[in-house]
Amino acid sequence: MRAIDHWINGHTVPGTSGRRLPVWDPATGEQQAYVVAATTDETGAAVAAALAAYPQWRAQSLSRRAEVMFRFRELVDANRKEIASLVSAEHGKTVADAEGEVARGLENIEFATGAPHLLKGGYSEQASNGVDVYSIRQPLGVVAGITPFNFPAMVPMWMFANALVCGNTFVLKPSEKDPSVSLLLADLLHQAGLPDGVFNVVQGDVTAVEALIAHPDVQALSFVGSTPVAKSIYERGTAAGKRVQALGGAKNHMVVLPDADIAAAADAAVSAGYGSAGERCMAISVVVAVGGSADPLVAAITERIGRIAVGPATDPAAEMGPLISREHRDKVAAYLDHAGVDVVVDGRNEPIAQGPGFFLGASLVDKVPTDSPLYTDEIFGPVLSVVRVDTYDEALHLVNANEFGNGCAIFTRDGGAARQFQYDVVCGMVGVNVPVPVPVAYYSFGGWKSSLFGDLHMYGPDGIQFYTRGKVVTSRWPGPATSEVDLGFPKVR
Ligand code: NAD
Repeated sequence: MRAIDHWINGHTVPGTSGRRLPVWDPATGEQQAYVVAATTDETGAAVAAALAAYPQWRAQSLSRRAEVMFRFRELVDANRKEIASLVSAEHGKTVADAEGEVARGLENIEFATGAPHLLKGGYSEQASNGVDVYSIRQPLGVVAGITPFNFPAMVPMWMFANALVCGNTFVLKPSEKDPSVSLLLADLLHQAGLPDGVFNVVQGDVTAVEALIAHPDVQALSFVGSTPVAKSIYERGTAAGKRVQALGGAKNHMVVLPDADIAAAADAAVSAGYGSAGERCMAISVVVAVGGSADPLVAAITERIGRIAVGPATDPAAEMGPLISREHRDKVAAYLDHAGVDVVVDGRNEPIAQGPGFFLGASLVDKVPTDSPLYTDEIFGPVLSVVRVDTYDEALHLVNANEFGNGCAIFTRDGGAARQFQYDVVCGMVGVNVPVPVPVAYYSFGGWKSSLFGDLHMYGPDGIQFYTRGKVVTSRWPGPATSEVDLGFPKVR
């Protein structure tokens, strides 16, 4: 069976721990490969390679670092299909969906090519007599990224594109569930001219993550994954003196006001609820139907669910693939047994859900009480809940009282109501008649509340801030005659 290696110092390196973690084909339920989980020493070897490569990479001119990103951009573009099919083979998402993931990752590389402009500092001439003051931004050193299974190509690119162009060196710990694409990206970076050791990959699980948290040479950690792990990594990483941004889970609400275009809202709810089988941190999980919108909306969503083609990524007609693992599929399906809800469509009845793959059909649950686990838990599967409320204020209260604040959306024809929602809602990313408001790469991505631990969001301008630290230089080139002893505190006037 195929073993998936580490990538250290510009080469693939086989794992030695003997601790094999299975990589499944979610469409067939069969194991297709394995990773040998990295030990603390192997993780240390990747950090050591990154540390050794740092001084030279940092010393490269901005133009040279940007040039590598330009070349990498061309290579990712030329290899889109190969990257996408590798994502589909291990994750299970459709090829079209995987191509969308690659395209959004590509945006982050394009943003990073603008680093020479983004890293410009400020300069104040004559801040005091003969004194100039200027600010510069410098890289941190070795930084690490820990990524989730649901976007095995895009989320690493959210991190390393900016980190590398800023002059840092990088250690990636991808999800052990779909790890192969990390090696393809490493190879493309190599082909783009990135020096050995600047980008490294350690395959594995919690052991590798613990090693990165504990390692004194790792200056910063970027994490994307579930909330309990995000919180723990943030707390322990910062306690160890590292800079940490840790993005967690979500429970994204879509508020539909009575004046909304119901057909468009239903299209959006189905696309955002069941795309990628609901395994997106920006998936819509709860439709909050306000007043008279509820009955027509539930009918329109139900009608559309009947037309979703569920199948493997190898079937070009498939619109929704399997879930990532058997355990996860069973866990998601079990939510449909919760009492007190009206299961309008039960995805367990989808014929392919009876087979060996990890499939579950699109499911719709109506009249969900807000104390039900269907409402309180992040399900991360193709289960859409409808909560019915009477007023906008009740809908807003629901969104704001929720533990998570990643994405949310409002559907309405009333511009004033939409603007009020944007103003009131306690949530990091808001869609107005847009169900999955993932910001473009020149803004930054991040939720509020339990969806993000840390101060800076990911990619875009915040990404540049995160991977650099500011330095301010106060400089004076006095003529000999202007020098004197003065024990007072420096004054500017
Ligand atoms: P996960 O938390 O199980 O794993 C994420 C990463 O952390 C993986 O690399 C994994 O190996 C590692 N990990 C797992 N348990 C760990 C532990 N106890 N200690 C240290 N490391 C550990 O998440 P997942 O199942 O891979 O991904 C799905 C989750 O990610 C969902 O909760 C989803 O909402 C979230 N997510 C969030 C965003 C966002 O931007 N906020 C984006 C994508 C996914």
